[in-house]
Amino acid sequence: MIYPIVKFGDPVLEREADDVTEFGTPELDKFLEDMFESMYAAKGVGLAAPQIGFSRKIAVIDVSNGERPEEKLVLINPTIVKVEGKQEGEEGCLSIPGFREQVKRGRLVTVRAQDAKGEVYEKTGEDLLARAFLHETDHLYGRLYITHISALKRDLMKRKIKKMQRAGEWS
Ligand SMILES: [Zn+2]
Repeated sequence: MIYPIVKFGDPVLEREADDVTEFGTPELDKFLEDMFESMYAAKGVGLAAPQIGFSRKIAVIDVSNGERPEEKLVLINPTIVKVEGKQEGEEGCLSIPGFREQVKRGRLVTVRAQDAKGEVYEKTGEDLLARAFLHETDHLYGRLYITHISALKRDLMKRKIKKMQRAGEWS
């Protein structure tokens, strides 16, 4: 099933999600399937569970946009273990539609996470994948990409969003 994407302003996006302790269950498998489906429907390359209203440390990533199944990644209870180099580029978030900002990130990033069966793995990604590891792991700790931009730009963005909320254009 396709879940609607929770938008900025909902507190679920700004608190640390709960760890996942049960693996290999039909419920988890179904939930992961729904997360991929919701991500593709929203045309994203990554989706974190809080973005569909579940405060659990689960994220899915596919930087191939559904083109290459081997690039589908499940990150459960992820932590970033290594960040090397630098990249600067535009970043957006499905929960903050209509906005994009330049964000400095590491260029080579290693994440340690569990898969659907609970097996711990490490994976290193570069460029877009590195950015996705950082962006999605941030989500699971209640951090949005706008915490990485200047306070001035962030305030401006929040003001525009408030305006849209008042006009009923943000829900
Ligand atoms: Zn996001």
